[in-house]
Amino acid sequence: MSITTDSNDTKMHHKKTLPLGWRISLHVAGIGSLLCLVVIFCLAPFEYKRVEKEVLTEAKILAEVVCSIYQRLGDKEPYDYARKLLLRMARVRHISLVNIQDKQGIVRYSTDSRELGKEIAFNYGVIREDNEIIVTHVVSESNSSIGSVSVFIERDLMLSDTHKLLAQIAIGLFVMIFILAFLTKGLVESLVSARLSKLDDLIEGAVLQGYFLNRASIDRFDEVGEVIFGFNQLLSIITQVEANQLEKDHGFREAQLQKSMRLKLEEALEQLKRTNENLNRKFQAQDLLMQASHSLGGTLKKEMVVERLVCLIEEKLHWPQFAIFLCDFKNKERPYLKLAASFGMSKELLSTTTVDFGEGITGMVAQTATPVVISDLEQDESLKSWNFSKKSGFYPEQHKTGSLMAVPMINKGYVIGVMLFFHSKIKSFDAEDAALMGALGAQASLAIVNAELYETTLELSTIDSLTLVQNRRALVRQIEYELARCQRFKTKMSLLLIDVDHFKSYNDRMGHVLGDAALKAIALALKEAIRKVDFVARFGGEEFCVILPQSDLDSAKEVADKLCEAIRQIKIVGADSQEFGYLSVSIGISVVPDDYEDLSSKTAVTDIIAIADKALYEAKHRGRDKYVYL
Ligand code: GH3
Ligand code: MG
Ligand code: MG
Repeated sequence: MSITTDSNDTKMHHKKTLPLGWRISLHVAGIGSLLCLVVIFCLAPFEYKRVEKEVLTEAKILAEVVCSIYQRLGDKEPYDYARKLLLRMARVRHISLVNIQDKQGIVRYSTDSRELGKEIAFNYGVIREDNEIIVTHVVSESNSSIGSVSVFIERDLMLSDTHKLLAQIAIGLFVMIFILAFLTKGLVESLVSARLSKLDDLIEGAVLQGYFLNRASIDRFDEVGEVIFGFNQLLSIITQVEANQLEKDHGFREAQLQKSMRLKLEEALEQLKRTNENLNRKFQAQDLLMQASHSLGGTLKKEMVVERLVCLIEEKLHWPQFAIFLCDFKNKERPYLKLAASFGMSKELLSTTTVDFGEGITGMVAQTATPVVISDLEQDESLKSWNFSKKSGFYPEQHKTGSLMAVPMINKGYVIGVMLFFHSKIKSFDAEDAALMGALGAQASLAIVNAELYETTLELSTIDSLTLVQNRRALVRQIEYELARCQRFKTKMSLLLIDVDHFKSYNDRMGHVLGDAALKAIALALKEAIRKVDFVARFGGEEFCVILPQSDLDSAKEVADKLCEAIRQIKIVGADSQEFGYLSVSIGISVVPDDYEDLSSKTAVTDIIAIADKALYEAKHRGRDKYVYL
């Protein structure tokens, strides 16, 4: 709660006034003075009256006394005595003049000689003039020499004492009032100001800084004490409110924090989900491509590559319906696509097994080498331009709803096939799928091209890769060649079919690696043992064949014997544990019969080999490690 700034501002905007003690004392002094003046002014008339009354009484008595004296004295020095008396009386401050008049009213005696002779018609009684009061006593006795006595009282002088008295009273009152005012100031300061100042210190030192836990001490439980108590209670309430507010704020902030955290979490979760999906997809894609590189590259058979491709798509992506078309370029004028494999494709969808380039979606993808993704077969406008016919490979007449993707299989810029995918749900394929399938298609294309290349190479190859002697294909060609020569030049030709004895047992005992080594050693031994014009080839497995051009039976037997011996001499691990204590072979001899009808016929080769095979069988039968000619 920020009340500090506001309160400070408010305080600063207030004018600095006199302290309360001073103000109260000034008020007391002012009011006291006023009261004092009122008292003085109220008292003054009464006092004037009283003094006047006293003075008048005195003056009357004086006048009467003077009269009496004059009457008693008669004419004996009455005036002198009167004069002396008058003079003494005249010393009374407020009596300014005493006149004695005769019966005619003429002043005969006066304290002021200037009055003598004046005729004054005074009646008995009191006459008030401006600054004078004249008290006249008329002598009633007729025999008296004096008529009347007038006492002149000067008002100012008469009242001067009263004034003095009033002034003294006023001064005394004022002094008292000011003392009272000072005392009041002291009291106010000690009873109110000092305690309120402590409260103010508390407010400035703590409350305005926002600390509401401090409390002002209560020394007396008077009104100020009650105010302090009330303030303390207010602080308690503020503290409570503050605590509640803090709690509320805390709760609110907590709630806000939680809300924003939840939002952030939800956002992060969403992001994570997306990332996860992407990652999953990428992982799936990578896994698929990795598997593809292992699986597709692991075979050199085209059919096997396609089969594995189908398995990969089905196992890894679980796409329910797809077909793989491969290009056939044999007819360069008119290449076409041929269905190589399909999975889950109904007959209605997969309308034909061959598609021309440019025909329908499959043919167009092959021709343009560009993938096509149709998210919704029903809505897609471009679908009309694909010109679907039953000959286009994919014919969606019955299945207009769903999605479709056709991806070319490209190798070194050439389309070698098209993969066609269908899903009955819309939006089943997107550009990423097309890219992934493009990559998979490229791998498959490479594997297919490699397999084709291998097949071609294999076709062209004449050397047996293990033993490095000629292979069976070369052998057949060579036999054909030699038979043709025999027929042409009427020469002889022999053929030895050689089979390693108990080679299975050697393999089983020594393992296939040593078995291969033994085969290599046997091939080498055969090669070294024959003439340059002779021809050795691996017939298959552990069987070899030697062609001996221009050789009759004797030569053949000689060579066969030599070959048996050469084999026996092979030094290889495990040879000593063979049946005869060494490696041995059985040989079947075939000599081209003189009476053979047509040596150039297709069966001649197989016939010659069959004769040798039969003899070989006989050699085995006769105990092995020998040659036989039947
Ligand atoms: P027989 O004396 O009757 O010919 O007995 P055999 O065990 O040699 O006959 P069989 O035809 O039963 O076994 C031939 C064996 O040759 C079986 C096969 O394991 C082995 N073999 C064939 N080709 C190869 C090859 O390329 N490498 C190796 N290591 N072994 C081969
Ligand atoms: Mg064999
Ligand atoms: Mg054998």
